[in-house]
Amino acid sequence: MLTDIEIARSAKLKKIDLIANELDIPEEYYNLYGKYIAKVSHKYLNELNFKNDGNLVMVTAITPTPAGEGKTTTSISLSMALNKIHKRSIVTLREPSLGPVMGIKGGAAGGGYSQVLPMEDINLHFTGDIHAVSSAHNLVSAILDDYIKYNKCDIDSTEVSWPRTMDMNDRALREIIVALGGKKNGYPRQDGFIITAASEIMAILCLIENLEDLKKKLSNIVVAKNSKGEPVTVKDLEITGTLSVLLKDAINPNLVQTIENTPAFVHGGPFANIAHGTNSILATKLALKLSDYVVTETGFGSDLGGEKFYDFVSPTFGLKPSATVLVATIRALKYHGGQNLKDLNTPNLESLEKGLPNLQVHVENLKKYNIPVVVSLNKFYSDTDDEINMVKDYCNKLGVEVSVNEGFEKGSEGAIDLAEKVVKVSEPRSKLKSIYDFEDPLEVKIDKLAKNIYRAAEVKYSSQALSSMNFLKKYGYENLPVIVAKTQYSISDDPKKLGFPKDYTFTIRDFELSAGAGFIVALAGDILRMPGLSKVPNAVNMDIDKEGNISGLS
Ligand code: ADP
Ligand code: MG
Repeated sequence: MLTDIEIARSAKLKKIDLIANELDIPEEYYNLYGKYIAKVSHKYLNELNFKNDGNLVMVTAITPTPAGEGKTTTSISLSMALNKIHKRSIVTLREPSLGPVMGIKGGAAGGGYSQVLPMEDINLHFTGDIHAVSSAHNLVSAILDDYIKYNKCDIDSTEVSWPRTMDMNDRALREIIVALGGKKNGYPRQDGFIITAASEIMAILCLIENLEDLKKKLSNIVVAKNSKGEPVTVKDLEITGTLSVLLKDAINPNLVQTIENTPAFVHGGPFANIAHGTNSILATKLALKLSDYVVTETGFGSDLGGEKFYDFVSPTFGLKPSATVLVATIRALKYHGGQNLKDLNTPNLESLEKGLPNLQVHVENLKKYNIPVVVSLNKFYSDTDDEINMVKDYCNKLGVEVSVNEGFEKGSEGAIDLAEKVVKVSEPRSKLKSIYDFEDPLEVKIDKLAKNIYRAAEVKYSSQALSSMNFLKKYGYENLPVIVAKTQYSISDDPKKLGFPKDYTFTIRDFELSAGAGFIVALAGDILRMPGLSKVPNAVNMDIDKEGNISGLS
């Protein structure tokens, strides 16, 4: 069997100008980054106001195993298959972060015969967007320590809420002391790093439609408190303009192509467990103007990226999603039924049956949003007919459409049935029903999510969370939507609770304010915003030969 990178290398790419041409994007609205990547100007969206939006299909998944269940692969295969049945389609995805690329999960450009290309570039430094976000973020940190040293803005150095950032999994940097070494280096204080995918600036990059919007959101970021306990913002630091300069190219969506030469936007990269988890709104909005079906991936399970897309992103930007695709794998369902992670390729109807309630909870949750759902069973070589039939029967019992997707092995041919079912159920002007209203009091928002989506019996707040809640209420931030940062391995706040946990207590450890991006982050359980590497990370497998061919990237 060929590896992803071998399959990618054998593909015949079209020059990206041709892809842009096929989308009718005028030359003055894009910049080439080599032969196969272009950045499309955000200004082009203004030229498209007269056009109607296409259908928006959101791809999410059941509770995943650490390897991922194939949402990216499914999104790409579905978009290619829609093109094959003569529906113009663009897939919109997030940019891979080097953290997972070097960690256990690997790259995020799809797999098998459903990939976006050039996968090496997309998975590595790509067009430098993540670098630009890290630089802008760290400029804020550098300015903060500078102002503390020179006693500007009355910053309380024990109340700085802006960590440093880098795009790598590095647990050693979670908690550090900065400015050691005496007076010339400033005032020592506790600090830490988060991964760039969790940076508020990454969220902002994905939540703006133009430069004015960018500036407004950047200036609202709260970075610290002053000696009176009041919020200090980026506007107070007087660096809004400079941050915008650093991000001027990064805000433009990246146009690439799938392995079958259909268009793809890969832009922005917030994770869904510690941030909002979808590609940039600019990429999605452009794609909606340029095609009939936009397939967009949201991160991790439907309790994370899916929930955030329907409760936060869609209401904020007036998106009207047409259909939900819920990716399930027999491997993950067996895992939820108690099968060992190393043993997931072994057929086992008993553990599959025990794991099926995880599919049930995701289907039930998604139906609450009032958008039609199709389950896409991502077929692996190891799946048996009996196992596949068991999942199909279960979906019939749940009253949800199901399609077996073989896009990994066969490209678009393997996803035609899924594409036809998505077209059949899609409702162009669907009426999204969100779980909570932005105006609900903060506790009510959390309570609705905990009971309806995470299926908890009650919510408990730590004393730190209660004190942060008081701050948020006092300074008028309570009506912001909530981004819950929690484990991706369970619908609950505890990674060990597999399947369909219920009757447990959901714990909020603390709140963090993302006033610029426009949300409150509720930290649940032990979730950390800087991941670590595993004992044998992907980083030990990669190489490059003297011809420049890369191996070990998947
Ligand atoms: P997600 O987006 O849900 O995290 P990905 O689409 O990135 O998942 O897939 C995770 C990994 O699993 C990738 O390395 C991909 O190549 C692989 N993969 C996905 N689908 C299949 C399949 N049907 N058979 C074998 N490997 C697959
Ligand atoms: Mg993915």
